[in-house]
Amino acid sequence: MNKLDLFSDHHLVRQSLAAVIEIAEAFKLEKGRMPVLMEVCGSHTMAFARSGIKQRLMDHVKLIAGPGCPVCVTDQKSIDAMIQLADEPDTILCTFGDMMRVPGSASTLMKAKTEGKDIRVVYSPLESVKIAQQHPDKEVIFLGIGFETTIPILALAIREAEKMELHNFTIWMTTKLVEPVLRELLDAGEVKVDGFLLPGHVSVVLGKTSYDFLMKEYQVPGVISGFEPVQLLTGMYKLIDLLHNQKVDILNDYTHVVKEHGNAVARELLHTYFEFGDEAWRGMNVIPKSGLVLKDQYARFDAKKKFNVAVKEPRKVKCRCGEIIRGLINPEECVLFNKGCTPVHPIGPCMVSSEGTCAAHYQYMREE
Ligand code: SF4
Ligand code: SF4
Repeated sequence: MNKLDLFSDHHLVRQSLAAVIEIAEAFKLEKGRMPVLMEVCGSHTMAFARSGIKQRLMDHVKLIAGPGCPVCVTDQKSIDAMIQLADEPDTILCTFGDMMRVPGSASTLMKAKTEGKDIRVVYSPLESVKIAQQHPDKEVIFLGIGFETTIPILALAIREAEKMELHNFTIWMTTKLVEPVLRELLDAGEVKVDGFLLPGHVSVVLGKTSYDFLMKEYQVPGVISGFEPVQLLTGMYKLIDLLHNQKVDILNDYTHVVKEHGNAVARELLHTYFEFGDEAWRGMNVIPKSGLVLKDQYARFDAKKKFNVAVKEPRKVKCRCGEIIRGLINPEECVLFNKGCTPVHPIGPCMVSSEGTCAAHYQYMREE
C-alpha cells in the first residue's frame, strides 16, 4: 500500500475517528461544550464534507469553515468590475473556471461570454501570457485571484511577459493573504474558535513559522494538515489534544510538503514583483495590507492602472456568503439554500466554487 492509499485506508480512518471522538469527549467533559475548530482552507472544507468526517463528528466537534476559498472571498464590487472589464474594446479576458459563474450585481462572466465577449478559461496565468503573445492586437487581461499558493504563479506570468517584452498583457490583481484575515477574524471576535486547522497548500509557501503570531499574540493553537481522511483526522486529534492539555502551539502535521520557513524561491518571487496592498474581502470590507499589488516598476502589467473601470456600489442581495466566510452561519441558515440557490442556479460564490462551503453542504450534507 502506498502512503496516499494509507491516508484513506478504511481501517485507519475508523481508528482515527474513534481517537478524535475520545479526545473530543474528554474535552467536552472538562469544558461542558464541544471543541470549536475552524478549517481555514476551502479544500479542507470540501474534504471534510466529501469524506463524511464532518457529518460523523457533528455531535463531538464543532467544525467551522473559514475564509479559505479564493473565489468566495472575492468581493462583489471586484466581480462587477471584472464583468465590466470584459466590455473594454479588443480585450481577451482570461480566468480560472470557477470565476465564470460567480454572480455579479447584474450578470456573470459566463453570461458576458454568451453575449459575445472574448472570455477564456485557463488553467494557469502562463496560458494567458501565451494568448497575449499570439494576439498582439488585443489586450489580454488575467483575473488574478488567489492566496499565497497562486500568487507566485502570477509573478511567474509577469516574469514571462517581461521576458517576451509584451505590452498587451496585464493582471487584474485581487489577491488575498491568510495572516491578515485570520487577524481580522480574531480581532472582530464575532466567531469563537478554540483552534485552527491550517491550510496545507498555502503553508507550502508560507512555512510553519508564519503562524507563530496565532500562538504568540492570540494564544490560539493551530495544526497544519493534509487533505486525505487520515491526515484530516490526525490534524484534528493533535489540535484537540493541545486544547485538552491547555497547550498553545503551532504543529506541522504535513511535514512531507510543508517546511519550517516555507518555500524561499516562491517568497522571493512574491517580494520581487509585489508589495502589500489594501484588499476588499466579501463580507468584511477592506482589510489593510491583506493582499499583494504590483510594485510601481511593474505598473505596466497592472490592469487596474491601465483600464479605468469604475463600478457602482453593488446592489444588496439576500445571499449570506459574507457571514458564511466569517464562520458566523451554516449554509442551511441562508433562506436561499437549496431553494433559490443551488449549484445549477447559484446566487452566491459559496455555491459556485468547487471549494465553497455552500457547495460542500449542498453536495454532501443536505437532508432531503
Ligand atoms: S489555495 Fe490551497 S490552501 Fe488555499 S484554500 Fe485553496 S486548496 Fe486550500
Ligand atoms: S446558499 Fe447561496 S445565497 Fe445562500 S449564502 Fe450560500 S451561496 Fe449565498
